[in-house]
Amino acid sequence: MKKKVLEDLNVKNKKVLVRVDFNVPVKNGVITDDNRIIQALPTINYLIEEDAKIILFSHLGRIKTKEDKQNNSLSVVAKRLSELLDKEINFVPETRGEKLETAINNMKAKDIVMVENTRFEDLDGKKESKNNPELGKYWASLGDVFVNDAFGTAHRSHASNVGIATRLETAAGFLMEKEIRYIGTTVENPEKPFIAILGGAKVSDKIGVIENLLKISDKVLIGGGMAYTFMKALGYNIGDSIVENDKLDLAKSLIDNSEGKLILPVDIVVAEEFSEDADYRVTKYKNIKPNETGMDIGPDTIKQFKKHLKGAKTVVWNGPVGVFEFENFAKGTKAVCEILAKMKNTKTIIGGGDSAAAAIQMGYKDDFTHISTGGGASLQFLEGKELPGIESIDDSVDCDCDDSNCDC
Ligand code: AMP
Repeated sequence: MKKKVLEDLNVKNKKVLVRVDFNVPVKNGVITDDNRIIQALPTINYLIEEDAKIILFSHLGRIKTKEDKQNNSLSVVAKRLSELLDKEINFVPETRGEKLETAINNMKAKDIVMVENTRFEDLDGKKESKNNPELGKYWASLGDVFVNDAFGTAHRSHASNVGIATRLETAAGFLMEKEIRYIGTTVENPEKPFIAILGGAKVSDKIGVIENLLKISDKVLIGGGMAYTFMKALGYNIGDSIVENDKLDLAKSLIDNSEGKLILPVDIVVAEEFSEDADYRVTKYKNIKPNETGMDIGPDTIKQFKKHLKGAKTVVWNGPVGVFEFENFAKGTKAVCEILAKMKNTKTIIGGGDSAAAAIQMGYKDDFTHISTGGGASLQFLEGKELPGIESIDDSVDCDCDDSNCDC
């Protein structure tokens, strides 16, 4: 089913509530990565051009104490957004009340009001995170229509996404639309051959993702820390490598039921300790010594991955294949970026999180078809699950078929 998009809404002179994902990293009051703000600009700029009155909602961090509140005001984001748009933003340091209502009632077309961190409402009974009905109703009462552009929170049912969406006409913003188009349709109907690459620290974080990808893809290439649980399950010595001993049976059954689709590394870069400047060597996966730790995939594995990826029409990647934070053990992750960057006729998608951060940091930002902005949300999408933030967006009125790839 197709979802309503921004262009389906009549926004001229309307009070348009917009849920964005401005949950950016902030260190000592300074934003260290403004990518999420930049990703929201197309939607905001469109609404300015269309003469809307724009009211922005976002969360920032987790709010459990009064101190969290002091450290997580969205004022720093409002300042950065104002610089990026070269436009004044009326930041209201409240999540409800007269000051906010007056600011909204005084708006003219093209004006922007930014509401304070929605999770400030969590200090009082987790109202935002538990989708408190009174809060959703109140926020919805502040506007005429709603745009959800916060893919990063789409796997959560919160007052500022689902709570508002169930009470107002709702459309997906441009970023949300892009995420649905690339990740959603790939999971529902991937162009084959479809190869998945999975890495990251643990199997336990991605069991649902592995199970679903084994069903819908042609191969699942495994790297990163999670590979060692699979290797140990097969009876190999993995030395001091990261392992989840309580997931060995599960790992064995995933391998046994994978019909040969699950591909493990053939060689490993091992180090004598888990540190940046540890001595290291490359070894076959069967020859890891008891005192050694697996840190990265080796050169033969990279060659093997390249072979499996050849001719793929769709590739989805989630999780770095090595400890990419340490330069000596970032080569595997960089090699994956390089291989995928050259596959110009392939739909290449990074499913958020650390692999997205690694690819951007290594200079491959513009070399993928799509780099998702949501970590948890894209994992849930890859599991084949419904996301409440997306489900609560109105269905497109022009379409009544069940296929998200339809051209209705
Ligand atoms: P995730 O959030 O599950 O994608 O995990 C990302 C983390 O996995 C990164 O911090 C990597 O350093 C870590 N990682 C990748 N390979 C390994 C490995 N061989 N041993 C330990 N951690 C790893």
